[in-house]
Amino acid sequence: MRTQVGIIGAGPAGLLLSHLLHLAGIESVLLETQTRKHVEERVRAGVLEEVAERLLIDTGVGGRLKREGLRHHGIKIRYNGEGHRIDFKHLTGSHVTVYGQQEVVKDLIAVRLGAGGDIRFEVAEVSPHDFEGAEPHIRFMENGKQQVLHCDFIAGCDGFHGVCRPAIPSSSLTVFEREYPFGWLGVLVEAPPASEELIYAHHERGFALLSMRSPQVSRLYVQCDPNDDIANWSDARVWEEFHARMSGDDGVRQQEGRIIQKGITAMRSFVVEPMQHGKLFLAGDAAHIVPPTGAKGMNLAVADVSILSRALEAYYKKGREELLAAYSAICLRRIWKVQRFSWWMTSMLHKFAEHTPFDRRRQLAEIDYVTSSRAAATSLAENYVGLPMERDWVQDNRKTQSRSSNDFFRARLANPWAAFRKRRDARHILG
Ligand SMILES: Cc1cc2nc3c(=O)[nH]c(=O)nc-3n(C[C@H](O)[C@H](O)[C@H](O)COP(=O)(O)OP(=O)(O)OC[C@H]3O[C@@H](n4cnc5c(N)ncnc54)[C@H](O)[C@@H]3O)c2cc1C
Repeated sequence: MRTQVGIIGAGPAGLLLSHLLHLAGIESVLLETQTRKHVEERVRAGVLEEVAERLLIDTGVGGRLKREGLRHHGIKIRYNGEGHRIDFKHLTGSHVTVYGQQEVVKDLIAVRLGAGGDIRFEVAEVSPHDFEGAEPHIRFMENGKQQVLHCDFIAGCDGFHGVCRPAIPSSSLTVFEREYPFGWLGVLVEAPPASEELIYAHHERGFALLSMRSPQVSRLYVQCDPNDDIANWSDARVWEEFHARMSGDDGVRQQEGRIIQKGITAMRSFVVEPMQHGKLFLAGDAAHIVPPTGAKGMNLAVADVSILSRALEAYYKKGREELLAAYSAICLRRIWKVQRFSWWMTSMLHKFAEHTPFDRRRQLAEIDYVTSSRAAATSLAENYVGLPMERDWVQDNRKTQSRSSNDFFRARLANPWAAFRKRRDARHILG
């Protein structure tokens, strides 16, 4: 069996990469250990940056997203029982869209299968081989039979616990990691959200977040011990904690409803560098994890594969290898900015057991600053709605390359954000 790009993992990263490659005329085969039903029902992230939303719409997978996605022009931050709105539209001219990750996954699977795409669900014992050599291939079991998929490149889109990152010699990778002393208990509730926009609550009992997946389904979170047993969280206890932490002066109170899903997620920041080794490229959670406070996990996966697909297209259509060589460096500039933002939001809003009275006062002063200063609020809003996509930069460079010298291209490579700033300033998106 042979293809151009062998993709491991059918989460948002792997599926979108397969779709973008197809649009560029590049073949891929996607291998996934879980069933189609499982990946389509896995409730995880739910906030799309505007650039990610635009990419899905522009590439033909935005039909349902346009109809059912909930466009949000701000968030609320609540502390000391008072709500404060950060107005994205006013501050940046932009927005985010609430649309469940499982819906993005469903749309991508439908569009890939509709176009005759090759997705193999329920395969087992997947392992990438010879990506440092001339014959990259992936071994896997399908219906009890050993199979070998030969390919030019392997894309490791298999999430944090996948097989691709561990297949790279550890001496070639540097890991940057921070674990947080808390997790999120998340519940999905059959009841309309009490607010049209997300509410982030800082409270002495711990952080809470009111989010939603649709006008009828709420997604609620409370900070908890990451090692807590879910059995300790009866529905009654979830409601008691959530109401206590969300209580405020504006009378917003979440309507209770049937809890249809409940789980605890540990929180960590993680980055591996570089994100490539020979002909194996890591994308999405396989290469990095952010705490969900900044709502960035799925968005980073989209950003990575947008770069990777462009680099592969440049390779196959123009014989250019420099974008593939620069893949990791380009992605990491965005990833580290997103890591910083996700860490900052997490640090500002959660309760830390080790905090001294000084730390608690400083934390409150920070929230006060963010909710009262236009400059500070703009910084939060700009990061929340999403920094410009490197994809624009790649396109920008393709134009530059065609009309000027390689030296100029290399200078841009060293400073990819220059193109963004020019474009952003031109649009005055920061108001
Ligand atoms: C439990 C959980 C809850 C989350 N909640 C939130 C949230 O509330 N808000 C938020 O913003 N973000 C959240 N995230 C983060 C966000 O969902 C991820 O960043 C996003 O899923 C990344 O997409 P991905 O395609 O890189 O990885 P994944 O979505 O993890 O996809 C990887 C795929 O690879 C498959 N796979 C794994 N190993 C193999 C193998 N050996 N062979 C073949 N296939 C394999 C997996 O089954 C999976 O389908 C959550 C993540 C997790 C894990």
